Amino acid sequence: MAKYSIHAGHNTFVPGAHGYIKEEVVDRKIKDAVITYLRADGQTVYDDTDNEGKTQNENLSAIVQHVNAHTGLALAVSIHLNAGGGTGIEVYQYDSKTDAAATRVLNNICAVTGLRSRGIKKNTSLYVLRNTKSPAILVECGFVDTKTDAEIVSSKTDAIGKAIAEGIVNKTITADNAANQSAKPASATQTASSKKSPLLQNKSTGSAVKELQQELIKAGYSIGKAGADGIFGTATERAVRALQSDYKIAVDGVVGPDTRAALSKAVSQKAKATGSTGTSVVTYPGTAIKRGSQGKNVERIQRALSLTVDGIFGTKTESAVKAYQKRHGLAVDGIVGPKTWNMLF
Ligand SMILES: [Zn+2]
Repeated sequence: MAKYSIHAGHNTFVPGAHGYIKEEVVDRKIKDAVITYLRADGQTVYDDTDNEGKTQNENLSAIVQHVNAHTGLALAVSIHLNAGGGTGIEVYQYDSKTDAAATRVLNNICAVTGLRSRGIKKNTSLYVLRNTKSPAILVECGFVDTKTDAEIVSSKTDAIGKAIAEGIVNKTITADNAANQSAKPASATQTASSKKSPLLQNKSTGSAVKELQQELIKAGYSIGKAGADGIFGTATERAVRALQSDYKIAVDGVVGPDTRAALSKAVSQKAKATGSTGTSVVTYPGTAIKRGSQGKNVERIQRALSLTVDGIFGTKTESAVKAYQKRHGLAVDGIVGPKTWNMLF
């Protein structure tokens, strides 16, 4: 997985081109779609759009500062719309390092809009292209002052965003993946292992972030004074990076499936280390634990049932689970599924 920086040009203080549509409005919709699809594909994406600059210079230099603050970017992409009464799509590049990506992005946008290609254009004087350290392209997504361009582009911002994202990563991003990205956060019992859990990273917010933070705390990682507040800020990112480092997976501060698996392990190990079988809810591991199962979760169950802790789910453990289920009015099958697990922990 790679790192990308995406931004939309201009802002409300220093507006872009206006015609049938407003550049700084439509470019942000396209930018948001690009980011959604890239993240759905598992990429690390920074939104380096500047909404604060009061002059064109402030706006441009803020964008470049944001972009250059990241290391190891595969590509920075600037999203704009054109003006001047022409028609079609064009992509600017600083040099031919970006030939392949620029060509794919250009062709993809032309394909979904039906607008003509104006080609790839080299330009070493455009501020953002000249001053960003990483490879960069600037995409002009149609003309705001040509009616057909404006109508097509403003009605297809999602498709254009997808076209750009797919051009960047050079593959099809399935609707299924993209839907997962915007899907509601997984419930607490699914979080640990569900592949459908949303990717979380700095600036993510909501209940999925809160659940993540609660798990980090359980695993013994400090997420700062604010506690589990549902806002993925610097302290949460630091905790995620520490976890990733401890479990020897890619240290990128982004919570995807590998990080969730590591976190689940960390929570189990922490609970084992502290001998905790108290009232705190421990996330169900995602698969039933039954006769023949081995490992930390079996140890945990054995500890909870005051059995000899050997990590092997044999007939004694099974009998104890059945007795426990009977006492607690659960279906007596000797298998620790979600209901038995949640009752135990
Ligand atoms: Zn522009």
